[in-house]
Amino acid sequence: MTKTQYERPVITKINTGMSNKFGVRVKTDAFTHIENISVKYLLETYGSPLYVISERTIRETFSEAKRAFQTRYPKVQFAWSYKTNYLDAVCKIFHQEGSWAEVVSGFEYEKALRNGVDGKQIIFNGPSKSVEDLEKAIKNDSLIHVDHFDELYTIFELAEKSENKPKIAIRVNMNTGIYPMWDRFGFNYENGEAWNAINRIMLNNKIELVGLHTHIGTYIMVSSAYAVAVAKLADLALGLEQKFKHYIKYIDLGGGFASKNTLKGAYLQGTDTCPSFDEYAQATTDALINAGLNVEHLPMLILESGRALIDDSGYLLGTVLANKRLADGRKAMIIDIGLNLLFTSLWYDHKIEPAQPFSQQTEETTIYGPLCMNIDVIRESVKFPILKKGDNVVISRIGAYNMTQWLQFIKMRPAIVLIDEKEKIHLIREKETLETIVSNEKVPEHLTKI
Ligand SMILES: *Cc1c(COP(=O)(O)O)cnc(C)c1O
Repeated sequence: MTKTQYERPVITKINTGMSNKFGVRVKTDAFTHIENISVKYLLETYGSPLYVISERTIRETFSEAKRAFQTRYPKVQFAWSYKTNYLDAVCKIFHQEGSWAEVVSGFEYEKALRNGVDGKQIIFNGPSKSVEDLEKAIKNDSLIHVDHFDELYTIFELAEKSENKPKIAIRVNMNTGIYPMWDRFGFNYENGEAWNAINRIMLNNKIELVGLHTHIGTYIMVSSAYAVAVAKLADLALGLEQKFKHYIKYIDLGGGFASKNTLKGAYLQGTDTCPSFDEYAQATTDALINAGLNVEHLPMLILESGRALIDDSGYLLGTVLANKRLADGRKAMIIDIGLNLLFTSLWYDHKIEPAQPFSQQTEETTIYGPLCMNIDVIRESVKFPILKKGDNVVISRIGAYNMTQWLQFIKMRPAIVLIDEKEKIHLIREKETLETIVSNEKVPEHLTKI
């Protein structure tokens, strides 16, 4: 018989029922399997820490989003936001599902082409496209979303000497009741700048205005903000119809749908407060079909949803490195997952669960990552059971942004595996080695000997 581990007695207020101001009931089951595959097995095989992505969850979430919009509007197209997660395997799942690509840099643009996406189905957003990027996009008939006048004039210049007519949309920023307002991208609606840009484009017959775009922000918790955005873009489209008899091909609403994660400081769980795809779709399409646009030329509705489509499919598995007490007696736990691998822990209270059975005793705990950096905290304060060194944990809903915003700081980045729909495991990114890191370095001759 194994000796039971000593647990320091603590007094805990008992709360029953729904979540309340004392928090939420701690889940009592161990998180031992991801789709019938043992967490322990995954960690033993691929090392700790480890990212795991569920193909089934990606496809199911995507179908749900697609159904919500397609049942409410006849012309819907999704474009996968590369920066949210640009692993080739992940992008290809979205492309198989029919998504176009939405990119914000020359590097992402190249990645989309390399993944086999037709140039005509790449949307090129972002404030930093180089002349070479624009030339490439024009040559491939990609959809260029203009961010500012300087970019617009560069496109005018390129259009003069180009065989292809550049296909452009403008990005519009606007007040939708979401603050702080994202007014650094695109042309403003309220002060007339967007209409000004549209008029300049329409006076140039060497380029074609194909769409209107906005991306009002991220983790938008009120679906009505999208109705406001649609109304304002539709107003511009109506202006185009009236003044130029010009019908745009699409209205692109960007991304920003909230995932089910819980924001730090939120009173209730994200699962209870975030709108569903149906709610977003209802608000958006209500506004669109009632906007008075010409029905013969109904614009396609493009969505560039990122986090809401991928967050739920990602898990981060790790190991407890140590337990300790802080100077004031608080309990602290150090795990091998830090801010370097879980950048989103800066704004989310990520759900973290033990991967093996544990006792019901919980204590207020601070969970630290492995970095030599004071801000490397994954959870400032969470009611957590007592785990021992070597025990494993699972962090859920981490599929968005963590595999692109990760930092190669102090530690190297771990492997990523995909569990396919038949529950087969595929390594989709090798863990980094010292060789990965130094392969781009060069040591000057005089420093070769030490
Ligand atoms: C980041 C981004 C997206 C995706 O945003 P989410 O909030 O993850 O849905 C879509 N469009 C543009 C232009 C973006 O910059």
